[in-house]
Amino acid sequence: MQLLQNKVKEEGIVLSGQVLKVDSFLNHQMDPVLMKEVGKEFTRRFKDENVTRVLTIESSGIAPGIMTALEMDVPMIFARKQKSLTLREDIFVEKVYSFTKQETNEITVSKKFIKPGDRVLIVDDFLANGEAAFGLARIVEQAGAEVVGIGIVIEKAFQPGGRLLAEAGYRVESLVRIASLDDGTVTFA
Ligand code: 5GP
Repeated sequence: MQLLQNKVKEEGIVLSGQVLKVDSFLNHQMDPVLMKEVGKEFTRRFKDENVTRVLTIESSGIAPGIMTALEMDVPMIFARKQKSLTLREDIFVEKVYSFTKQETNEITVSKKFIKPGDRVLIVDDFLANGEAAFGLARIVEQAGAEVVGIGIVIEKAFQPGGRLLAEAGYRVESLVRIASLDDGTVTFA
């Protein structure tokens, strides 16, 4: 997606540890026009999948997730990272190791919102090692629903997440793929 690639090129800042900071349009300040285009593009790519739910993870997945759900005219659910006050039997729980925070968090989704028969599109802002996407997929599967695809705004293709998800049989669509962040420079795949 050229618009997004231009934005990454112009505004992305490479941090140490192979992390890309895009806080001017995705991770802090958000660009609603760009997010709307992201939603349209995921909708175009997954139009034949009869998606019934979009699932993402707070907080940076919410903007691309809600725009995709709006375009698809389906509900969006975001997995929570905080401990929920809800009774444990009412929620799906999975452990996810956070690439950026280097700690394991529990993510939770209420059982009310994903049901057997749902066709779920997972959306997230970044793909690195695939931990977040795998955790979300395990929640969908716990619910007896189906993951019909994984839509990623920015994939760091030099990290193994994309390959691991494809090997596990998931269809991954990334709008921008980065081959390297070496020497503080973004090189696209
Ligand atoms: P994974 O779970 O695939 O290892 O990492 C993806 C998650 O970690 C995303 O939800 C995202 O929030 C965060 N993440 C991973 N790499 C980056 C990065 O380079 N920049 C930012 N801003 N977030 C990242």
